[in-house]
Amino acid sequence: MSNELFFKSAAELGELLDKKEISAVELIQSVIDRTKKIEPRVQAFLATNEEKVIAEAKASDERRAAGKKLSPLDGIPVATKDILADKGVQLTCASKILKNYISPYTSTAIERLRDAGAIMWGRTNLDEFAMGSSVENSAFQATHNPWDLERIPGGSSGGSSAAVAAGETIIALGSDTGGSIRQPAALCGVVGLKPTYGLVSRYGLAAFASSLDQIGPFARTVKDVASTLQIIAGHDRYDSTSFKANIPNYTESIEKNKGPWKLGVPKEYFGEGLNPEVRVFIEKAIDFYKQQGCEIVEVSLPNADLAIPAYYLTATAEASSNLARYDGIRYTHRSSDATDAIDIYSKSRAEGFGDEVKRRIILGTYVLSSGYYDAYYVRAQKVRTLIRRDFEQAFQRVDALLTPTSPTAAFKIGEKATDPLSMYLSDIYTISINLAGLPGISIPCGFTNNNLPVGLQIIGKPYAEAQLLAIADFFEKAHPHYTKNPSL
Ligand code: GLN
Repeated sequence: MSNELFFKSAAELGELLDKKEISAVELIQSVIDRTKKIEPRVQAFLATNEEKVIAEAKASDERRAAGKKLSPLDGIPVATKDILADKGVQLTCASKILKNYISPYTSTAIERLRDAGAIMWGRTNLDEFAMGSSVENSAFQATHNPWDLERIPGGSSGGSSAAVAAGETIIALGSDTGGSIRQPAALCGVVGLKPTYGLVSRYGLAAFASSLDQIGPFARTVKDVASTLQIIAGHDRYDSTSFKANIPNYTESIEKNKGPWKLGVPKEYFGEGLNPEVRVFIEKAIDFYKQQGCEIVEVSLPNADLAIPAYYLTATAEASSNLARYDGIRYTHRSSDATDAIDIYSKSRAEGFGDEVKRRIILGTYVLSSGYYDAYYVRAQKVRTLIRRDFEQAFQRVDALLTPTSPTAAFKIGEKATDPLSMYLSDIYTISINLAGLPGISIPCGFTNNNLPVGLQIIGKPYAEAQLLAIADFFEKAHPHYTKNPSL
């Protein structure tokens, strides 16, 4: 029965655990063995913790045997992007500046999962401080796409998406500031959800751009994403931007809510830059919903082309201020040849940060500097409002929007590494959703001729995750792409 447990969904594994056909120890062992075998090629993890998780799995088995299962995820392995604090565990953000930093406290998302019995397994690789779309900005290693090891897994949560796709974990957490959950999910052929801003507590998430950052799950199926969201969603007094939303039963709403829905297709998302092969799969997906009785409505998001500039002004401004705390005094890396305080700041930061992080700090500092603040930062905030209004208008006519997640399938490692602008464009369809604070999910919708996964993005109304998940699940039931696995 332990055959390829690592490729099963949490829902399926939960049933096997309940029926005592497998144990949580067997399950984590299967994930550990799988990881040992393929990790030298995939390099999704920055750290794993074998002994600790086996002990946790034993405890989970004992709970189940005593009839005290904590949640549907009790005993299920969950990996976390190495940007979420976990007390006593290294938190590197894939940056040299935090290389030896140990978290003094635990993020709410991890704490809630652990309280639900999940086995917190492994810390996944990312672009340094989540700045990037390919994980090539990690200070430590490149992660390889399990579908083609010469390609990037997407980013910045590419370690998490690659780990799920490769069977190195069942579920993973990531963070999404401009697409960092959805884009890697699309490129690795798994499901990834960025919740509405405020639904999941950001407490313990190392901040990149605080008004855009959200934590969310990756899994092989929509249902598994729903059960993870169930646990991590909800108000937290430690995050002042966390919203007191009513949390419905997401899994139940998937079962109950069968549509038909009114779905919008934003015409601006199908213009120049969209790879023709990707376009075909998205059009097929739209057609599927239509065949199933959904009304498809063309909508317009007229300010869509302003999203990338507005994002790179807002996100860099916030990043320059958030990253000021890494000053060589309070956190780990301190330059050994600094002589005074100013020298400590500048040398430690020069040595500790990578090129992309420096580029963003410089850009953000410029944007916020006196004389430019109104011209750049304030203007970007006005544009942000326009973008949000575009969505509000579209949502007066439709329940959700269907778009590509990424304009292309996974590109080759090194292909865009020296061209930041073309890298920035890979988030063209995901970024405005963060600017507007909306929920968005990416689900696999096909494979290119090169056998690379393509993702469909579904964008929902604020706090309408229950409906969004139902729309996604409806597609997945008819297109169970999760049954196909990369051969590694
Ligand atoms: N790729 C985008 C960036 O580099 C988004 C990153 C993210 O969502 N964390 O900023």
